[in-house]
Amino acid sequence: MREYQLYINNEFVGPADGRTFTSINPFNQEVIATFARAGIEETRGAIKAAREAFDRGPWPHMSPEERAALIKAISDKINETSKLLVELEVADSGSTIRKAKEDVYLSARNMNGFSKLALADLNEQLDGVSKPGFSKNMLLREPIGVVAAIIPWNFPLKMAIWKLGPALATGNTVVLKPSQETSVTAMELAKLIHDIGFPKGVINIISGFGSDAGAELTTNPMVDKIAFTGSTIVGQQIMRAAAGSLKKVTLECGGKSANIVLDDADMEMAIDGAMYAIFYHQGQCCEAGTRLMLPELIGDEFMQKMIEKTQRMKVGDPTQMSTDMGPLVSNKQQESVLDYVAKGKQEGAKLATGGGVPKSPECKNGFFVEPTIFDHVDNKSSIAQEEIFGPVLSVIRYKTVDDAIRMANDSIYGLGGGVWSKDTEKAMHVARRLRTGTVWVNEWHLLNERAPFGGYKQSGIGREFGIDGLKEYTESKHVHIDEVGVREKKTWYDTVVPKN
Ligand code: NAP
Ligand code: MG
Repeated sequence: MREYQLYINNEFVGPADGRTFTSINPFNQEVIATFARAGIEETRGAIKAAREAFDRGPWPHMSPEERAALIKAISDKINETSKLLVELEVADSGSTIRKAKEDVYLSARNMNGFSKLALADLNEQLDGVSKPGFSKNMLLREPIGVVAAIIPWNFPLKMAIWKLGPALATGNTVVLKPSQETSVTAMELAKLIHDIGFPKGVINIISGFGSDAGAELTTNPMVDKIAFTGSTIVGQQIMRAAAGSLKKVTLECGGKSANIVLDDADMEMAIDGAMYAIFYHQGQCCEAGTRLMLPELIGDEFMQKMIEKTQRMKVGDPTQMSTDMGPLVSNKQQESVLDYVAKGKQEGAKLATGGGVPKSPECKNGFFVEPTIFDHVDNKSSIAQEEIFGPVLSVIRYKTVDDAIRMANDSIYGLGGGVWSKDTEKAMHVARRLRTGTVWVNEWHLLNERAPFGGYKQSGIGREFGIDGLKEYTESKHVHIDEVGVREKKTWYDTVVPKN
């Protein structure tokens, strides 16, 4: 069993009161790790270290090149340690090995991308401010200060990278709190970061719970910004908590993304794509394609083929390369998903496949749910409106493309969306009208650190990735340099100053 301590001010420390918690492998319920649990005192210690590092340390004033080199070193270390990280991610989160391999590979690649973004010059020369030629006006983009990063359990390592990368690239210092369900790879990351040798206190990683460590991060006046990924409900709590000291917040929250298949789609590809959109990581993805919209003309054939293929999915041991779907992250998540299946039945949707717990001996100790498809779902029903966060697809039949777009937008969420069509123009027509932060055409789940990602409506506030994402980690400062030089020619000369 692995044991992890808190990483504060470049030291590994235990909690003052010796409190710990454990993590289990959701495939077999074995305890795999023990973590020091950061309480309020330890969280304050981490915040203080990040504050000192920002206010008195070298980090915010280092050159972009120096910072980029250290960020790149994290990417290199992840690559060097990838085998172990994959193994641990599978054991801790129930991710299939196929997904975990991709996650670790992409974590390294994204961090490398952030090291390049660290070199981007975000400052601007402004013109048209005051009388031309009379002043020079500059917009400087500076780090905000101490960033508290709070992340969920579905992509443990990747989420840590997605928060650390842009925060560090723009010169902030960070306290990162992973989810209590999946803290292993974040704490392994702390070890890699320690070996690189960042200036003291720039990166602090604390395992703990939202109720105390998380709450302290969101209320402590020494924290300047909160970068949160998680549920909409906790996002709302965080925004309220942050209001006390007017912290900047970016929130990446829930979704109920609509996947619209047009008549002319490549059916075989759209079926695979729809399955990938919903069943990837057991449906535990914020931007999963949870509502599939099918047209009358091809709907029945599409369904028949997709059901047949879904029933061939191999659900079981996540360490095996042949496994398509592993367990859900926890017993709580499994129960919540099964409750939604019951609700779907009560609401009159047609259960087309799945809906239960797999019976195979391989699955007997894990938190599994079968890949599940409901057909003829009413877009107003709870399984079409609420985030299930499990392998449950709601298929909604539509008559006209306008209907499909209207239903797709009839949601409190606006994170992702997709269109399948051979005609790019038709697909673009739909893409422009979907009120979501990302739209995939003949694709799904592809995010990259150069393209902004985030939510319309209650899916979030702000963007991650790209230049837009970097700017979320900066304050804008206007510097006005006078170039008039002559007292009498200044615009204010006639305004206040006595002439005699
Ligand atoms: P969650 O319950 O909202 O928790 C997310 C994080 O917030 C955890 O680290 C949690 O700590 C912490 N937290 C809980 N209450 C808090 C509080 N009062 N103050 C401060 N921190 C608090 O979400 P989850 O169940 O881990 O993850 C699933 C959700 O995340 C889904 O709704 C999904 O849509 C969303 N998600 C969104 C995106 C996106 O980019 N839009 C990506 C992935 C997931 P604990 O360790 O105690 O739980
Ligand atoms: Mg675990």
